[in-house]
Amino acid sequence: MLDRKKFYIDGKWVDPNKDNDFDVINPSNEECFAKISLGSKEDVDKAVIAAKNAFESWRDVPKDKKINLLETLLAIYKKKFDIMSEAISTEMGAPIDWAKEVQTTSGQAHLEDFILRLKNFNFDKQFDKKSNNHICYEPIGVCGLITPWNWPINQIALKVIPALATGCTMILKPSEISPLSAIVFAEMIDEAKFPKGVFNLINGDGAGVGTQLSGHPDIDMISFTGSTRAGRLISKNAADTIKKVCLELGGKGGNIVFADAYPNAVRDGIRNVMSNSGQSCDAPTRMLVEKSIYKKAVDEAIDEANKIKVDLASKKGDHIGPVVSKIQYDKIIKLIKSGIEEGATLSAGGPELPNGLNKGYFIKPTIFTDVTNEMTIAKEEIFGPVLSIIPFDTEDEAIKIVNDTSYGLGNYLQTEDKEKAKRVAKKLRSGCVYINGKSADAGTPFGGYKQSGNGREGGVWGLEEFLEVKTVTGWN
Ligand code: NAD
Repeated sequence: MLDRKKFYIDGKWVDPNKDNDFDVINPSNEECFAKISLGSKEDVDKAVIAAKNAFESWRDVPKDKKINLLETLLAIYKKKFDIMSEAISTEMGAPIDWAKEVQTTSGQAHLEDFILRLKNFNFDKQFDKKSNNHICYEPIGVCGLITPWNWPINQIALKVIPALATGCTMILKPSEISPLSAIVFAEMIDEAKFPKGVFNLINGDGAGVGTQLSGHPDIDMISFTGSTRAGRLISKNAADTIKKVCLELGGKGGNIVFADAYPNAVRDGIRNVMSNSGQSCDAPTRMLVEKSIYKKAVDEAIDEANKIKVDLASKKGDHIGPVVSKIQYDKIIKLIKSGIEEGATLSAGGPELPNGLNKGYFIKPTIFTDVTNEMTIAKEEIFGPVLSIIPFDTEDEAIKIVNDTSYGLGNYLQTEDKEKAKRVAKKLRSGCVYINGKSADAGTPFGGYKQSGNGREGGVWGLEEFLEVKTVTGWN
């Protein structure tokens, strides 16, 4: 049993103010493998004081010194890459090879990209050639960073690195379900020797530490990634202190497969939605298929879903792991049953455990066909390996169905017709549109329209989230 009860505050690993143990569960076997503490108001206050004190000097540390520290952190990240992958795989169930190739790699890619963006970022700009006005970009101050379990280090890197780069100080509260990767990350920060108090880590749940951070009068900004439900609560709780709140929330992505899509478009769509066991905010969970190719597409989708193996996270090879927790498992099974009850056709998978797996939160890759956009499975974020296939007749109808959701994070479209692709991409109401399976480059902005959030992470946009903008007249 791992003992990970300490918090990282003011450059030291310290005991929590009072005992409040929490079991960290391995979702592949349902067993507790680590103990953490859930923090209290006293722990939060201590970390906020440390961050507030550190801000006075960290904000003015020259850019090249910050870059040196981030480059040291990158070298340590690379050295401890396998330890990070092991932590992610055990705490949230990503198969170990995939955790290395995708999850841990994503954190490294953000670190590399932010270093590059910081090198090129100009914190002082003349307003325009004729003006004596000057524009200064300045760090916003003390930040509360609250992250989810599904892409744990990806989300941590998207918040901590730009906060460090811009001169902010911070308190990170990772998901209590996946705290190990955050602890490994805090050890890296410690080894890189960032000044004390710049980065602080407190474990805790949403009702406790999460709420104390969002309402804290000495925290200037909350950057949150997680459910729309928690995003709402955080916004309300932050309102009294008028702090900036950046929200990266849930999604219900549409994937329009036109009749002229490239040959592997349906199979790629299936792989995409099932990867990470369906636990990605921008997963294309509603596949819209043009009626003229509907039957062929459904056959391919079923065939591909049935090829995907489900197995323990610790096993090497190409498969999907369990979903993260009993709560998520129960929610997903309930939604699968609702699909059956509401009249969708269950074409692959279903609510039973996969063959040979009697323990662990495993769910078969599941496909519903003949789904309508009014059904619960097409409306709610399921966050499991479940896809709904919806037929459509015309381009306008497909756009209407995709946009008919309260979310707007990532949408997808598949067509060989370049003009149609651009036309449709512009009409989809989401922060990202992926054409023909092409992924987004490092440094592009990521975020949502509508109830998927209100901020952008990544690249220059990610740096700007942590900056105030000041106009100074009479500069020249
Ligand atoms: P969650 O909202 O339950 O928890 C996320 C984090 O918020 C955790 O650290 C949790 O402890 C904390 N939290 C919960 N309630 C809180 C409250 N009232 N006040 C303050 N903090 C609170 O979400 P989750 O189940 O961990 O993650 C899955 C969700 O995250 C999905 O909805 C997914 O779509 C979303 N997500 C979004 C993005 C994005 O970039 N848009 C990326 C990854 C995940």
